[in-house]
Amino acid sequence: MLRMQKSKYAFVLLIVLLAGLALMPERGHPVMAAPNAASLPATPQPGAGPVSVFIWFDTEDYILPQSDDALRRVAEFLTRNGIRGTFKMVAEKSRVLERRGRKDVLASLVPHEIGYHTDTHSQHPTLAEFEEPLDWKDGIEEFTRRERAGFDDLHRIHGQIPTCYGQPGGSWAPQILAALRQWGVNVYIDEAPDIGLDGKPFWYAGMLNIFNTTYGFKLRPNDDFSNLADVKALFQKVYTETASQTGGGIISVHFHPCEFVHREFWDGVNFAHGSDPPPSDWKLPRVKTPEESEKAFGFFEGFVLHMKSFPVQFVTASQGMKLYPDLARNRTFSKTEIAEIARLVRSDVSFQVHGDYALSPSEVLSLLNKYAAAFIGNKSSGAVSLDATPYGPSRAAVQLTRQFEVPWYNFSRTILDVSDALAKSGQVPYPVWVGSTPVPPECYLAALARVSTILVESGKAPATVAVGPAKLTTTQYVAKDSPDLWDWPIYHPGFQGTHILELARLQTWTLKPAILRSATHSATQ
Ligand SMILES: [Zn+2]
Repeated sequence: MLRMQKSKYAFVLLIVLLAGLALMPERGHPVMAAPNAASLPATPQPGAGPVSVFIWFDTEDYILPQSDDALRRVAEFLTRNGIRGTFKMVAEKSRVLERRGRKDVLASLVPHEIGYHTDTHSQHPTLAEFEEPLDWKDGIEEFTRRERAGFDDLHRIHGQIPTCYGQPGGSWAPQILAALRQWGVNVYIDEAPDIGLDGKPFWYAGMLNIFNTTYGFKLRPNDDFSNLADVKALFQKVYTETASQTGGGIISVHFHPCEFVHREFWDGVNFAHGSDPPPSDWKLPRVKTPEESEKAFGFFEGFVLHMKSFPVQFVTASQGMKLYPDLARNRTFSKTEIAEIARLVRSDVSFQVHGDYALSPSEVLSLLNKYAAAFIGNKSSGAVSLDATPYGPSRAAVQLTRQFEVPWYNFSRTILDVSDALAKSGQVPYPVWVGSTPVPPECYLAALARVSTILVESGKAPATVAVGPAKLTTTQYVAKDSPDLWDWPIYHPGFQGTHILELARLQTWTLKPAILRSATHSATQ
């Protein structure tokens, strides 16, 4: 019955899609090629998936007073157009607005959503500078010690608990995500190359990341804001591409309110290359002429109105959680699902996608270990639930180069030991002890998956278990270390976040794609 309904639906969907494709611009010949593409009216595409647009602002310049007015102008423009933006505020910027008596600017932000963009942004040590020497746990605590007061200031000043976070410049580190999660912040929205999953939203360290998106840096003004026509045309192409994906997708667009009035960033003229002068020595950045400024605002307003002419919905960071709910969390997995999850584990350990949910490697480990531990305790009901995403290990384990075999007695003790470690630390353990041999957790997971398959299929424990080499392949989604990755001009000379990237790779135990609700909704209706 269900099968018949599904195939009937698939046929109707095919017809709708074919009709839609016939009306769409041919792929590879986007409308952007037309000379007046920017002025083309947007028409809803039959069969097109919904497209959601995030407009967010890094609101950070607390030195140049004109940037206050720029902030008010963009906020009020969006309000007049019925669009809610996400304003990631530097806490010092909000405090400065208070000190300057700019109640009007603060009032202009009320209809919008507030995110956090650090306490002072570029004063030293910046986030990556202080995180680099620290390990996983110290890094989490240090971020909270230095940054929590700024977060609380935003709550006090704006009357909203910030819903999201994004880092200053290139100042990224994975410990920050774990700290934010403790504070109840679930969404990381930014553009940077440190980690990315094919240009689409993903889960990492338990946070939803709208991060490193395919077009994030391309839907932007150039230096003199003269490329509006090009950006409008590119948006048309990106819209068509996004709408043609199953279930649609998202487009992330960002600005800095200060960029409409300045010629150079406020922090570059004061804090570049490790410089950390007292406030009395802070210099104002050079400003645009009134004409240049109008041109910049014209870009912003023209681009927003262009996006609005498409059948898109504008969303804020917190709405990202509704678009991309994590349906694995708090889900109960049947014995059949556990068997399938175990079957998909390879010696190349990665995340898994199952219809409406995805599992990170650490979630796969947690589920299979729970199933096997319940078997050992004779408490197996055949179903296990996922209540959290365990973090990756704090440091890299020894490598395993050769396969070895242990009796079930030893492996069953390891299963219980890993259960205890996951429950007490919330992290994938390193190393995992199998008898007297320390092994990397990925090698243990590959062996555990084979054991789980035997337990599900035969209901009996194997006499012996083989443990062999395996590799965590999700590490490939972290950027390669290079001087270019750490070229934010604010860093002190010679700064290199090598240790940050090591920790980032270990935390790819938590990496998995974010599944768009509308995609699974339309696929299962
Ligand atoms: Zn910034």
